[in-house]
Amino acid sequence: MAKYRLDYIWLDGYTPVPNLRTKCCIKEFEEFPTLEQLPEWGFDGSSTLQADGSDSDCILKPVAHFPDPTRENGVLVMCEVMLPNGDPHPSNTRATILDDPDAWFGFEQEYFLEKDGGILGFPKGGYAGPQGEYYCGVGYKNVGDIGRAIVDEHLDLCLYAGINHEGINAEVAKGQWEFQIFGKGSKNAADQMWVARFLLLRLCEEYGVDVNWHCKPLKGDWNGSGMHANFSTAKMRDEGGEDYFKAIMASFEKNCHEHIAVYGPDNDQRLTGLHETQSIDKFSWGIADRGASIRVPHSFVNNGYKGYLEDRRPNSQGDPYAIASRILKTIAEA
Ligand code: ADP
Ligand code: MN
Ligand code: MN
Ligand code: MN
Repeated sequence: MAKYRLDYIWLDGYTPVPNLRTKCCIKEFEEFPTLEQLPEWGFDGSSTLQADGSDSDCILKPVAHFPDPTRENGVLVMCEVMLPNGDPHPSNTRATILDDPDAWFGFEQEYFLEKDGGILGFPKGGYAGPQGEYYCGVGYKNVGDIGRAIVDEHLDLCLYAGINHEGINAEVAKGQWEFQIFGKGSKNAADQMWVARFLLLRLCEEYGVDVNWHCKPLKGDWNGSGMHANFSTAKMRDEGGEDYFKAIMASFEKNCHEHIAVYGPDNDQRLTGLHETQSIDKFSWGIADRGASIRVPHSFVNNGYKGYLEDRRPNSQGDPYAIASRILKTIAEA
């Protein structure tokens, strides 16, 4: 038997954006535990806006687990929050996702890094030079000093944990970065995204750096942060067809407000029709169009309207569970 360190991770009850929470317990196993071997656990929901003090117990139900890259015998345990009677807690957005092993999602997470209350690379109280050379930029004047060290280390941590991290790039604004996560299964990419966010936050603690997930931290002529959601179902990939595509788009148009409601707060500041976005009150799709709500890749049309689509509206603070849930409901209605 060996002692394992289990770091349970869950989402609290804050709105409009839940926070990640974590606590650790030590358990003995013969070898790296399976998900089924990980016990349910509890926490004080009155400290996380998930329960009253008089009836404070919430249940943590392990739903995905990963080896923890920086802890000996460490396990990262992503959990759903349940009520004592076994029902999903109202804050549990994961439980609302339709089960579909053949739904695939790819999320592109953009974010800013901040130190001492300012964006990394910005002079204190002032602004960096205008956007232009930062996107995929190289060199101190473009990416500053510790930004790349952090994003590279984060990439390594994710890969070691078995998270399907697909790549990184410096973004259009200074101090802004992106990583992509892809997963097969309706809940899989979202699980991995939350754990990747957790690893980034925990890594940044060591640098005295904060992640600013807000979709528009810089007013004016600066790009905001999105979390484009690329999605496909088995029917979209295997059958496809122009008629089915048009039906899906009609369903998206009809549910436009329901989508915006779960695509992250303050999105009106980001979806302005400028900076590669469509405005928040319009729905549009376009082939290779980065100013549309939904971008249709060239490959999709060339393959007979088969493949994946990119919803460009979700923002960097969006909950990937709520986003995946809404997208699959809308497709199911088509
Ligand atoms: P861009 O910045 O041009 O929008 P990225 O390469 O950053 O493109 O992101 C594309 C995303 O699409 C990746 O996360 C990738 O995993 C995802 N993706 C590719 N194929 C599929 C598919 N069939 N279903 C769902 N997502 C997909
Ligand atoms: Mn991208
Ligand atoms: Mn991007
Ligand atoms: Mn994109």
